[in-house]
Amino acid sequence: MQKAVEEGVGQRLEAVLGNISNALKASQNPDQSVQLVAVSKTFPANAIEPVLQAGQRVFGENRVQEAMGKWPEMKEQYPDVKLHLIGPLQTNKVAAAVTLFDCIETIDRPKLAKSIAKELGKQGKKIELFIQVNTGAEPQKAGILMDELPEFVRFCREDLWLDISGLMCIPPVSDLAKDHFLLLGKLARQNNMANLSMGMSADYQMAVKCGATFVRVGSAIFGQR
Ligand SMILES: *Cc1c(COP(=O)(O)O)cnc(C)c1O
Repeated sequence: MQKAVEEGVGQRLEAVLGNISNALKASQNPDQSVQLVAVSKTFPANAIEPVLQAGQRVFGENRVQEAMGKWPEMKEQYPDVKLHLIGPLQTNKVAAAVTLFDCIETIDRPKLAKSIAKELGKQGKKIELFIQVNTGAEPQKAGILMDELPEFVRFCREDLWLDISGLMCIPPVSDLAKDHFLLLGKLARQNNMANLSMGMSADYQMAVKCGATFVRVGSAIFGQR
């Protein structure tokens, strides 16, 4: 029984990787590197283990607290794991996030950026940093508004010396994701950023065709949450 479950996860992972590779061939820039961020939120360690055994090393979690409960041990066992924070970050969790995560994708306000800069200095650590953009200007959604992006990027880089290397977005469910992916790509070029985190289970192939360097895929690998 357990074995069947594990094979299922392995096969789904292979299928997703195959789809990414095919989408990349159909993209404008087929030599680009695209990394799969396997989104393991809500799944316990024993559901993640078979994905690690199948060779996947980049994972995404949306809550610091939850990630702290399951990842320190697995990271010790698999030291080459890279963990991405893909959910909103509160300043009182910054120290824990900087300790555990290798990439924070959701920087979206000056206070948070300041707190991250201070903590990175304190821990003497360097991690990958992306800014989340609320491309659909949805009031309930995290992310900086497009109008505010240029000044925020300047603030992060020039005032805080943060090495911001990418942008992340979650398109509104009601819109064509493609429009938001193309927009995020344009914003990244304007701001001289190499990385684009976009695309989830429903639209990661489209995201790759639009230039994603990271796709965040959960349910297509782990099953429904
Ligand atoms: C949950 C989540 C994902 C993965 O969603 P799926 O539809 O399960 O692939 C991607 N990005 C973010 C920010 C998420 O919170």
